[in-house]
Amino acid sequence: MTEIKYFTFNPFSENTYVLHDTESMEAVIIDPGCYSNEEKEELAAFVSSKKLKVIKLLNTHGHIDHVLGNAWVKEKFGVELYIGSEDAATLRSVETYASVYGFPQYRPAEADHFIKEGDTIMLGNSSMEVLFVPGHAPGHIAFYNKEQNFVINGDCLFRGSIGRTDLPGGDFDTLIRSIRSKLFSLPDETVVYCGHGPETTIGHEKKHNPFLK
Ligand SMILES: [Zn+2]
Repeated sequence: MTEIKYFTFNPFSENTYVLHDTESMEAVIIDPGCYSNEEKEELAAFVSSKKLKVIKLLNTHGHIDHVLGNAWVKEKFGVELYIGSEDAATLRSVETYASVYGFPQYRPAEADHFIKEGDTIMLGNSSMEVLFVPGHAPGHIAFYNKEQNFVINGDCLFRGSIGRTDLPGGDFDTLIRSIRSKLFSLPDETVVYCGHGPETTIGHEKKHNPFLK
């Protein structure tokens, strides 16, 4: 079984996820937004207190607030970075604007693996399916655990809102199409974990999200 923990890091209040398998104690870290030493220490303390073995670093997309801790996580836990194949450029460009956004200490990290829709991420005996959900970023992906009925959806869908589409590579119609065709085809009870803010469910957003009426 997969257990989910998240931390809210950096001035963008980005949610950093640590998922672990309760039997093998293997873990994956998704979108590490940790930037300050305090944030890095908080994440490391959780991993060591639970005695987790971090096996992979995953990014839903390559925006700065989701990747600030990539280089640190790779080194600290000796893991490789997986990102959607069409978001390689988004990740690479962070270096060019990190200082302007107030993160002069940002250290870029190369992606080691490019993943695409239909790929499976194993975590102990559990698996997550990769969904391609572009719009907020051109290569945005989400991680869907069918058995436990949750999706780690990055910045596509938020509780009562959707991801912004005014950043380079963003496109409003594409985002709406991704949500309607991919996320809204999941069961209503599916718990949606977001890149910012609290979790929600597919059913709640179908009913109440003003962008998707
Ligand atoms: Zn983003």
